[in-house]
Amino acid sequence: MLIVLKPDVTQEEIDHIVSKIRSLKLEPYVSRGVHRTIITIIGDEDVLREQPFEAIAGVESVKPILRPFKLVSRETHPDRTVVRVGDVEIGANKIVVIAGPCAVEGEKEVIAHAQMVKKAGAQIFRAGAYKPRTSPYSFQGFGEKGLKYLAKAREETGLPVVTEVIDPRDVALVEEYADMLQIGTRNMQNFNLLKEVGKSKKPVLLKRGMSATINEFLMSAEYILSQGNRNIILCPRGIRTFEDVTRNTLDAGVVPVIKDWSHLPVIADPSHAMGIKAYVPAAAMAYVAAGADGIIVEAHPNPEDAISDGQQTIDSAQLVSLIERLGKLARAMDRDIA
Ligand code: PEP
Ligand code: MN
Repeated sequence: MLIVLKPDVTQEEIDHIVSKIRSLKLEPYVSRGVHRTIITIIGDEDVLREQPFEAIAGVESVKPILRPFKLVSRETHPDRTVVRVGDVEIGANKIVVIAGPCAVEGEKEVIAHAQMVKKAGAQIFRAGAYKPRTSPYSFQGFGEKGLKYLAKAREETGLPVVTEVIDPRDVALVEEYADMLQIGTRNMQNFNLLKEVGKSKKPVLLKRGMSATINEFLMSAEYILSQGNRNIILCPRGIRTFEDVTRNTLDAGVVPVIKDWSHLPVIADPSHAMGIKAYVPAAAMAYVAAGADGIIVEAHPNPEDAISDGQQTIDSAQLVSLIERLGKLARAMDRDIA
């Protein structure tokens, strides 16, 4: 950690800061330049982070040297993590496509939707049994019944299923049925929920908070990892900006940063990033071109009849054509598609 001192810092103030650092059993190195004095501290940054150095007279700013996340970082884990969901490997060479409707819409429906997704060539089925809706009067999902329908859809098609869990009290129930637990954008900083899925044996698809920075996103993954669950997939899904044409702003730029800083795989969500189905395939291509290991896309045989998010949901012909184009892109990047 670097402590930059004010230009007019006094010797008494420097002595006070130095003794404060020594009282934490850390060693300060004072470097005097012509205009500035800085103090470098080598040692446990976690101890230092808790200290309000900025509140001490004479201190101008404090700069950490290490990133605040450890387990998520490639510094502590240089090899890339490959997460297995059923038989599907996420984070290996092959691009993975996860597809399905926003919500579980009923028993017959969810089976038909999973069959459509399988036929189109996707490897994992998605559908929400619990829906975190902006309005309390909107459809909230089928809940436990929806989970049972999802299990049937898996039985019928053999596709692993991913579904969202929105309440720490439901984690045990959802993990009984799902092959992967989704944490939605609104819950990215629901720390109790993160700790709970961190104790689960099931992989976790962690969506980026709609207003979260990259550091905050990775710290949320650190919460899960700190509880012992290493099977985390990071999911950019667009962020809120001043833009009001698309639902969110495509955050493809986060992908190379995550790939550089972290060993965790990335599955990106072009549907919630764009919010308009005509633009979803291009956004999916952009995420994969930026280095994503796959996409999670909303797809439905009849988007106009979808219970939720129909405006951003692609149909089966669009899904087939997207998967074909993703395959070409993957091969151009020396990757392949599952
Ligand atoms: C969803 O995947 O349907 C969903 C609610 O996504 P998000 O949490 O990204 O809004
Ligand atoms: Mn949705």
